Amino acid sequence: MTEGQVIVGLEVHCQLDTKSKLFCGCSTDYRSDSPNTHVCPVCLGLPGAMPVLNKRSIEYAMRVAKALNCSVIPESEFSRKNYFYPDLDKAYQITQYDKPLAEGGYLEIEGDEGGEKRIRLTRIHVEEDPGRLVHRGNAERGKYSLVDYNRAGIPLIEIVSEPDMRSPKEARKFLNKLRATLEYLSVFDSEKEGSLRVDANISLKGSERVEVKNISSYKGVEKALLFEITRQKSLLRRGQKVDRETRHYLEARGVTQSSRSKEQEHDYRYFPEPDLRPLHVRSWVDGIVLPELPDARRERFITQYGCSLNHARTLTGELRLANFYEVVVAPDPANLATLADTWISDTLIGELNYRDMGIERVDPMDFTGLMLLLKDKKIFDKQAIEMLRINLDHLMKGEPLEKWEDLIEKHGFKKITPAITMSLEYAIKNPIHDAIIEVINEQPNAVDDYRNGKKGAFNFLIGQLMKKTRGCADPAELNRLLTEELNTKEA
Ligand SMILES: [Zn+2]
Repeated sequence: MTEGQVIVGLEVHCQLDTKSKLFCGCSTDYRSDSPNTHVCPVCLGLPGAMPVLNKRSIEYAMRVAKALNCSVIPESEFSRKNYFYPDLDKAYQITQYDKPLAEGGYLEIEGDEGGEKRIRLTRIHVEEDPGRLVHRGNAERGKYSLVDYNRAGIPLIEIVSEPDMRSPKEARKFLNKLRATLEYLSVFDSEKEGSLRVDANISLKGSERVEVKNISSYKGVEKALLFEITRQKSLLRRGQKVDRETRHYLEARGVTQSSRSKEQEHDYRYFPEPDLRPLHVRSWVDGIVLPELPDARRERFITQYGCSLNHARTLTGELRLANFYEVVVAPDPANLATLADTWISDTLIGELNYRDMGIERVDPMDFTGLMLLLKDKKIFDKQAIEMLRINLDHLMKGEPLEKWEDLIEKHGFKKITPAITMSLEYAIKNPIHDAIIEVINEQPNAVDDYRNGKKGAFNFLIGQLMKKTRGCADPAELNRLLTEELNTKEA
């Protein structure tokens, strides 16, 4: 590692998608309900209330540990982490401290230098989520804050990585891969607001480490890290030093800010939780069978459907997307696999991102309909894109979709008759370039005239080209390519 090299390690908190909380029967489905309606004596920490461990959450945590190649520790333990803060009603958090559920492990990502890169993990432990503070106005200057304990007691896993990432981009890839893995395991729902929060440790080789706390979105992590790198580098350039400190990421402004309340070295006075017995999982963990995970599915997409590595990576990088693809091609895999692979990876995803919509908004069977029209050469690529855009716009505005056939009629898209199918094949399959070469060879006189400065000759050649491609190619593009070709040959 060279001086100044970026070093990033992440601590990722994920809410496990169980029905009830970690130590009581309160429902975890709180997001659309009024504050403090999903609470009971246990998650409010009232005197005498006893926690009962939710078996499902441990099962979920072990699935994650196995999928991330960790060693599950046969006997782990819960501890009390004591601190006073308004979001913590009991004044302690039940968490795992010196005896976590799992240690070691790794996650493979596509590294900055190409190829697979292993990001090592330190540990995974289980803990309860604290409540949530809602600040009125600015967190520092607002008059008051509100507290909502609906979130208190939701099961969390904390996944701690080694400082193996070398750029914000690698950190983003790590999080994306982690999210995909958790979703494939059916233990996590990334669509739920606040279901993933990240603390990032970042340093430049040779300088102090800075911790950026509580980044609550995937995009936020990359942005916060980019900001920190710039900030730290400019400090060093000015001959100043980077302080070892905790900073907060202010999402709206895209900056990190030193935690003003001098974050003293906490003494959490950890001690074993007296109301919970040690957790024995030795025989339990062996019985856990994992589903197909992102890497395996990516390889299957390559062998079964002939997807390129990049497309297979894109499609399997999100569970919903991978499922969508398989439903789309199901009616005719032999003919639709490659077509749909390209259309989804190169066109649909971009169009959805542009409209800020997720793949779940699109009906795969409807998309199959469009692919079948393309496969049967009933429409051109350009028409398909236009038709797709029209219906995605409808979808975005919550309007009913139009049938593909109706769209063809309504917008005057010519259906392809057998007579022009040949020229269409020509236009789509053969590069325009071939047609240009043919015209140049067939019309030596016009080419000479053009080279002797007769402007009219160029238009004649374009006319010949249009005829050859039966108007299927874009005239502006023909113009550009023909000019290019004539001028290169001359030189
Ligand atoms: Zn409760």
